[in-house]
Amino acid sequence: MTSDQTEVGILPSYLCDRWWTPALGQGEGADGDATDVLDASTGEVVTRVSTAGVDLAGAIAYARTTGQASLGALTFHQRALLLKEFALALTGRKEELYELSKRAGATVRDSLSDVDGGIGVLFTYSSKGRRELPNAQVYLDGPVEPLSKDGSFLGRHVYTRLPGVAVQINAFNFPMWGALEKFAPAFLAGVPTIVKPATPTAYVAEAWVRILVDTGRLPAGSLQLVSGAVPGLFDHLGLGDLVGFTGSAATAERLRTQAAPGVRFTRETDSINASVLGPDAVPGTPEFDAYVKQLMVELTTKAGQKCTAIRRAIVPEAAVEPLIEALRGKIAERVVVGDPRADGVTMGPVVSRAQRDEVLRAVGELQAAGGRLLLGTTDAPDVTRADGSIGPAPEGAFVAPILVGFDGDPAALPDAVHDVEAFGPVASLLAYRTVEEAADLVGRGGGSLVTSVATSDPAVATTLLARTAAYNGRLLFLDRDDARSSTGHGAPVPHLVHGGPGRAGGGEELGGIRAVLHHMQRTAVQGSPAMLTALTGVWHQGAASRSDTHPFRKSLAELAIGDQIASPTRPVTLDDIETFANFTGDLFYAHMDEAAAAANPFFPGRVAHGYLLVSWAAGLFVDPEPGPVLANYGLENLRFVTPVSPGDEIRVVLTAKQITPRETDEYGEVRWDAVILNQDDDIVATYDVLTLVAKTAEQAASAAASAVPSAPARVDA
Ligand code: NAP
Repeated sequence: MTSDQTEVGILPSYLCDRWWTPALGQGEGADGDATDVLDASTGEVVTRVSTAGVDLAGAIAYARTTGQASLGALTFHQRALLLKEFALALTGRKEELYELSKRAGATVRDSLSDVDGGIGVLFTYSSKGRRELPNAQVYLDGPVEPLSKDGSFLGRHVYTRLPGVAVQINAFNFPMWGALEKFAPAFLAGVPTIVKPATPTAYVAEAWVRILVDTGRLPAGSLQLVSGAVPGLFDHLGLGDLVGFTGSAATAERLRTQAAPGVRFTRETDSINASVLGPDAVPGTPEFDAYVKQLMVELTTKAGQKCTAIRRAIVPEAAVEPLIEALRGKIAERVVVGDPRADGVTMGPVVSRAQRDEVLRAVGELQAAGGRLLLGTTDAPDVTRADGSIGPAPEGAFVAPILVGFDGDPAALPDAVHDVEAFGPVASLLAYRTVEEAADLVGRGGGSLVTSVATSDPAVATTLLARTAAYNGRLLFLDRDDARSSTGHGAPVPHLVHGGPGRAGGGEELGGIRAVLHHMQRTAVQGSPAMLTALTGVWHQGAASRSDTHPFRKSLAELAIGDQIASPTRPVTLDDIETFANFTGDLFYAHMDEAAAAANPFFPGRVAHGYLLVSWAAGLFVDPEPGPVLANYGLENLRFVTPVSPGDEIRVVLTAKQITPRETDEYGEVRWDAVILNQDDDIVATYDVLTLVAKTAEQAASAAASAVPSAPARVDA
């Protein structure tokens, strides 16, 4: 044991809502097997990691009972609001997280992706959860399917949360973003999380978990942290549990085989991502410049330790030499390798000396396969040390940015260039002759997280989309218009899918609400309209309705789904149609020209405008005096079904279908089912009317007097 080790304690875990560290001493629960975690630049011991004696079975049981119960008591919107509180708490303390991340080799710019990126995921899911999910506990997928002629038997798809625990095993390179991008969707779905960070950066994970715990707002059992190994973990997992793994393909394969058949196992693994320079993006074009800059950024951000980093730069033969020179210049101008605590340093070390050795071993493999070092060196570089001096730093895990070149027929390049992941500041440069050849090279990566293409030629982009999309989770097209605003090749965004086919793991994380649904089970539910109404909280055609007080006179506190207004009828005259046509300027022949309308395959002759019918319907169902209904913010799913001719009569039936109180406002959203019928009870039009309604009569009065409601959320039915 070194003198450092005697002073540095064991990193705590957070289990069953308590901080826990293994007991010191010998035997069962001893810390004698603790792993030292070293500062990436100086080699000092930062912390020690051990889970000797950890009660994993107890933690899993706690998540399944206490965690499930506390999250189950909340709606999607309530969970979403908590995510925002967590994001704000982390924002308030992010300087601490930046400082800590420097010990792992991350510059402040690197932390923008890990720390700020992680916080951004929480904010995004908070906002999406409230706008795209109902303020309820189940999520309805797709429309109602009528399964009987008389409407008494219906079916639809319903998502409910998984009943178990989401165990998230993370890679070392994103201790915060990598964990929060899984925690946020799991939490929103209502599934408790156990985070298992990678050992080399477990102390950064411990720090963000501690900040969340300090808020005092984590629902009991909703988040646990295991700082260290998880022996026997898979013995305790079963149907209803989920493992979200991020790391190397080799570890993923080993763990997948340990998971019982019912465990949902998703993996995000390594990926030999490509970046293609289009044939039109010759030197001197903005696309060429954007490509060079992007390649430099991807090589050096997080010292190249990004699953999404560019590993293969695929460029036209004629662009090879100009590209090498341009990249050399960019690196000389922009890249300063050193301790992230020193001023001016733009690229830190890789996470550990073991990782440095692994990167150099992989570069050796590329060289053995015929690769030539075009830029950089495998020798230890001179670096800027913490005190600002420049020189060797053998105790740090520094690697220079390296570009490895491969010559020869693109189709005959060695497998190593498409296979070997040097998880550091390393990329290979490959030349192509035709766009088809470039596409084939992309595909030889065996499935990637992302490919970027610098081109302003839509034909090149279309060919590459058609030939490479199936091999990628994400494609980024870079041109002069988006070069400045692009979020970048290497930056997954929470709105879009992250993950890729084949070698990349076949998983699909993020992608907005899709990621929440990964933590839920989709079930087809069949039953009567009344039963589906009771099960989903959404009124279904055919279920009971009530027509007492006009529903526009009811606040959210008084309104119930099924409250209905069935209007009297209104005759339709030619005069009305002409008035509407002249007033709006909509003189379309189907409303104005009898012969032309009759010649149309859909109309018997002149017909009423659909928008006239919808406007009349509003006039028929509305209750005009000020009251709880504050605003109409739109219609959805409008369909005109049967044409209406002069001489017909119409009426409307409006029924409260879904009620979504807002957690933070004095009003909520009400979705109304609207059906316009003719004198024969044929359906003329169907649609949903969306309104904002005050929660109580008093709030209705004060809202009417003062407030203008903010833009409404989209509700889902
Ligand atoms: P790794 O060595 O495969 O480890 C990944 C995680 O698995 C770590 O938390 C590790 O914990 C854990 N682990 C290892 N053996 C385990 C076992 N028997 N049971 C349970 N957990 C176990 O990967 P890494 O070195 O941390 O990360 C680098 C790799 O991740 C690269 O290949 C990179 O491409 C990939 N990556 C992929 C993505 C993506 O989204 N696709 C994102 C980031 C990184 P310990 O550290 O404690 O051993």
